[in-house]
Amino acid sequence: MKNHTSFKIGGPADIMVFPQDLQDLANLLHIADEEKVSLFILGKGSNILVKDGGVRGIVVNLQRFDKIMIESEDENGEAVIFAEAGVNLSRLLNFTASHGLTGLEFTAGIPGSVGGAVFMNAGSFDGEIKDVLKQVRMMDLKGNVIEIDREDIKFSYRTAKLPKGIILGGSFALHKNNSKKIKDKITTLTGRRKEKQPIGVPSAGSVFKNPAAGFAGALIESAGLKGYRIGDAEVSEKHANFIVNKGRAIAKDVISLINLIKEKVKKEKGVALKLEIKIIGRD
Ligand SMILES: Cc1cc2nc3c(=O)[nH]c(=O)nc-3n(C[C@H](O)[C@H](O)[C@H](O)COP(=O)(O)OP(=O)(O)OC[C@H]3O[C@@H](n4cnc5c(N)ncnc54)[C@H](O)[C@@H]3O)c2cc1C
Repeated sequence: MKNHTSFKIGGPADIMVFPQDLQDLANLLHIADEEKVSLFILGKGSNILVKDGGVRGIVVNLQRFDKIMIESEDENGEAVIFAEAGVNLSRLLNFTASHGLTGLEFTAGIPGSVGGAVFMNAGSFDGEIKDVLKQVRMMDLKGNVIEIDREDIKFSYRTAKLPKGIILGGSFALHKNNSKKIKDKITTLTGRRKEKQPIGVPSAGSVFKNPAAGFAGALIESAGLKGYRIGDAEVSEKHANFIVNKGRAIAKDVISLINLIKEKVKKEKGVALKLEIKIIGRD
């Protein structure tokens, strides 16, 4: 799994499948149900830590669900774009920006897929998926394709309450703006990210959610943990809410570091940090 995660960490999966279409997915759900095998749905692996023993059961890789379509466009400049779950957010943003459509700029630099972004209600200071999402297309566990309107989904900070199943894609309500303005905004946001975050070094982004008051990174930094290292897992010198893999970090190192951060921040700052990343698999 380390080849399928941005952390570059994780033992093997028993099986990874790359379904091509809805029929493949429905068959897969049927087989998994009959054989009582568990499924894990993988996006770009940019928000997960896979344990060193790997993942039992089937990992479903949706990279072949990669189409982007313009669903509608009207004379008032309102447009709806549908993107399949496996589409990279960066590709979607390139597409919308080059069509002069604004709304998704806040995703600049988020290295996830459409499916992962909807599941996580991904966002930055400038917006969240819930602000632009119009509808989610999913396959339920019986293999039926269902559409869920945004109004029927309860979103909160980095979560979306969805029925059990596989996100197939999402449609996004965007509107026309000047292409140059959109591209300039993307450049500014990407530049800001490069300044503040350890881009280019393996990580899974922010490890902890920001607590109700303040920032997780600031709390970790003021607990004196910037640069603290266990094995090859290090609290980033650039942004204390990132744990970076300095070479050969294993999940055990990262989890020890996570526990140490939680304990120290609780003891010194009185704040119980909650994980944003998802830890999956077995030791
Ligand atoms: C350098 C860096 C910067 C980041 N910056 C941000 C940021 O600014 N804001 C932010 O919100 N996040 C950020 N992230 C985290 C991450 O990129 C986002 O959470 C992203 O939306 C995860 O998408 P993914 O495709 O990688 O999902 P994965 O990590 O593959 O999966 C995450 C979860 O979503 C589920 N999932 C994925 N696809 C589907 C699907 N099709 N159907 C059902 N469930 C699915 C998985 O099962 C898993 O539980 C950052 C990560 C990195 C490495």
